[in-house]
Amino acid sequence: MNTNSEFLQFGLSEETLKTILEKGFEVPSPIQKLALPVLLNETCDIIGQAQTGTGKTAAFGLPIIEGLAKGKDGKINAIILVPTRELALQVTDEIISFKGNRNINIITVYGGQSISEQQRRLRRGADVVVGTPGRVLDLIKRKDLLLDNIAWAVLDEADEMLNMGFIEDIELILSHTPKSKRMLLFSATIPDRIVKLSKKFMNDPRILTVGNQHSATNLADQIYFEVKRADKFDALTRIIDIEPEFYGLVFCRTRVDVDTLSSRLLERGYSCDGLHGDISQAQREKTLTKFRNKFINILVATDVAARGIDISDLTHVINYSLPQDPDSYIHRVGRTGRAGKEGTAITFITPDEYRKFVFFQKTIKSNIRKEILPDAQDIIEIKKMRIKDELQAIVESETYADYLAMAEGILEVNSPEIALASLLRMAFKNQLEEKSYPEIRTFNVDNTGTTRLFIALGKKDGMNPRKISSFIRTKVKISDNKIDDIGVYEEFSFVTVPFADAETILDAFSKKGRDGKALITKAKKR
Ligand code: ADP
Ligand code: MG
Repeated sequence: MNTNSEFLQFGLSEETLKTILEKGFEVPSPIQKLALPVLLNETCDIIGQAQTGTGKTAAFGLPIIEGLAKGKDGKINAIILVPTRELALQVTDEIISFKGNRNINIITVYGGQSISEQQRRLRRGADVVVGTPGRVLDLIKRKDLLLDNIAWAVLDEADEMLNMGFIEDIELILSHTPKSKRMLLFSATIPDRIVKLSKKFMNDPRILTVGNQHSATNLADQIYFEVKRADKFDALTRIIDIEPEFYGLVFCRTRVDVDTLSSRLLERGYSCDGLHGDISQAQREKTLTKFRNKFINILVATDVAARGIDISDLTHVINYSLPQDPDSYIHRVGRTGRAGKEGTAITFITPDEYRKFVFFQKTIKSNIRKEILPDAQDIIEIKKMRIKDELQAIVESETYADYLAMAEGILEVNSPEIALASLLRMAFKNQLEEKSYPEIRTFNVDNTGTTRLFIALGKKDGMNPRKISSFIRTKVKISDNKIDDIGVYEEFSFVTVPFADAETILDAFSKKGRDGKALITKAKKR
């Protein structure tokens, strides 16, 4: 072992250190620095928060392997729950790589593969089981998986598992595990639901976080475009076309969106592929390899499918649709601008998403700049320039010899201008025509003016203008003089407030009353 390795500080066994050296790890990642000492030397539960690709698997995998190296009892020692098949396999591979020549059995179980094969493998003896919640629970019910003696339960990518609706399965699985186990929860984000889950199932967990959840990477240049839903596709093609070397991840909300968008892109001649939870493992691997090797330069994916995928040097991350919450925004955007390279994060906002987006911006506290889409002429000019450059490069590299005789033949019957123009037309067909860039209607969400709000309280509730104003100020810090034009009627009232304050007020009073409506809503246009 390299005697300078920072991995020496943790007191790992010789054999384990050897595997780390073989993998080429030199310095522990921040989450590893935080988690390894706690997991190796203490007994507490932990919640670990760090972005994708920061080595969380080793942070929990190494201590599990070290424990097993000291002695095993023939029963399952650790259960690791992950949201998808792909992650189950990735985590398994990573942990196997730390075991070296030691006799430690790591078994992967997930849906979509024959259960009997997994049952057989479990029967032969497992020390560590990595699996998706549904299949794990199924195997517990069939009595193939006995977790009554485990020392470790790990929830990996816990936020995604909750997003995917695995909460009940997870709770049931945990009810089959002993109190004495250590529970570890890893997640890229820690929304309230995770905190709730941890209170219920964890024993006073230590929270280890790397970086501030609410601060998006500063490396990514963050931009948004206001586009109508129907124009999103054309907006995307403009963005891709104007970039010299677009290499990006495009996020969609659903599987259907992923399929639709990737086939539309393919039809238009882009090299892209899609990833989502319904795609077979073999196909996913193929797609990822193609993307990694840049045979395709556009990967369309859902959040879940993009989880755990370790691809660096993306030029772009595109939020084709707005993510679920600010933390997912940060997580998506964090995929670009890695390794010191600047990336661009682009978000499409439709008019009805504007409010949500204002809320995101406030939460994220980072500057997301509005930009105008490049227009058709600009893109065509840029494309023409690129063609000229490429042509010049071929001229200079003198790699045209095979075509010289043919060229001379063509020039015998045509003038050079006409021959060349025809050749360009043949090569680029409609790629340089303005009509391949349909017009994109712009719209502007009013963010300077004021908003009229409707309040479902009126004179019958004892309201007057002064009371309406203080009612709003029970929940929102806003000075009295910003609340204008107060109209109190028998059953309801109206106020006018600056646009930005309206968003805050609407959020603060968004809780629905008995009639299923929020107390304060945007007033219908007068
Ligand atoms: P996460 O679970 O946080 O998304 P992974 O555990 O999947 O991240 O690790 C991502 C990649 O980084 C893997 O290929 C892993 O082998 C590698 N890796 C992990 N720790 C280190 C390290 N200390 N040095 C170099 N590479 C590492
Ligand atoms: Mg992981």
